[in-house]
Amino acid sequence: MKTVEESGSPLWVVGKPIKHSLSPLIHNAAFENRGMKHRYFALEVGVEELEEFLDVLKKIKSPGANLTLPLKQKILELVPPKNQTSTVKKLGAANTVYLTEEGPALENTDLYGFKKMVEKWKKIIQDYPVLVLGAGGAARACVLGLEELGCRKILLWNRTTSRAVELKKDFPVLPLTVLYSDDFERLASDALMVVNATSLGLDGRDPSPFPSDSIDPSMVGVDLIYNRTTKFISDFRREGQAATGGLKMLVYQAARSWNFWFDRKPDVEVMLEVARKKLR
Ligand code: NAP
Repeated sequence: MKTVEESGSPLWVVGKPIKHSLSPLIHNAAFENRGMKHRYFALEVGVEELEEFLDVLKKIKSPGANLTLPLKQKILELVPPKNQTSTVKKLGAANTVYLTEEGPALENTDLYGFKKMVEKWKKIIQDYPVLVLGAGGAARACVLGLEELGCRKILLWNRTTSRAVELKKDFPVLPLTVLYSDDFERLASDALMVVNATSLGLDGRDPSPFPSDSIDPSMVGVDLIYNRTTKFISDFRREGQAATGGLKMLVYQAARSWNFWFDRKPDVEVMLEVARKKLR
């Protein structure tokens, strides 16, 4: 009988919309680099088609798949809690499915990707407040990741304040302070790292969610958006600050999925290089 690796069975990233995903490019480059026969595809799957997709995965014995919007929460209803890691349960979302003898299982590798992206600034994270902008799924992975890296004060701002308050309620043990518009300027200036976890910047014409005149010379800017240099990032770079876009998070979350599918690691540099080339 062939092993999973010898069979070269396909893997997918599924979601809706999906056609702009960089995941096939980075995984296929890494398969080629490691001499593996697998191929990775982007497939449009909506919420109502997810169960059928899961059946196909099982039938063809695929190692697994990645999930993106709007499927990251829905998948939790289709896989029993015993097959969900504690990270998935805490975040209420999964981006990786892998097959086990007990059936499909779930992990969320966004958290790992975020931590790998910012770990070089661990000292700042541990010693100063970090400001997170946004309260969606990505912001949830950020706040959990920051806490795991030893952050003792997270300031959370969101356009819709009630969503930030809800996030705080869902993570009662995290050191979170919700910022209201009135005290944003006063409290945000305490932070030494600002993380953009909003989708503002996905469109090249978008403004930055953080006012450029609030950028202090010692601040670090982290943007989760990876498809372009956003106004947020260029504002930080103009001031000569340390800043990063979200490409490393994307690549590290992709690389981490390999642990669950194949119990091996890809060459992360190969993945980064092919993605950078595509975005140039
Ligand atoms: P989401 O759940 O839809 O949340 C979107 C967030 O953006 C909400 O906080 C929303 O605020 C805010 N927002 C949207 N439009 C805004 C505007 N015009 N002004 C201010 N805030 C606005 O999305 P998500 O999954 O958290 O993703 C957020 C971003 O992270 C996306 O750009 C995504 O591409 C990126 N991301 C990157 C990676 C990576 O690997 N690098 C991984 C995951 C996500 P409201 O609550 O007020 O609507």
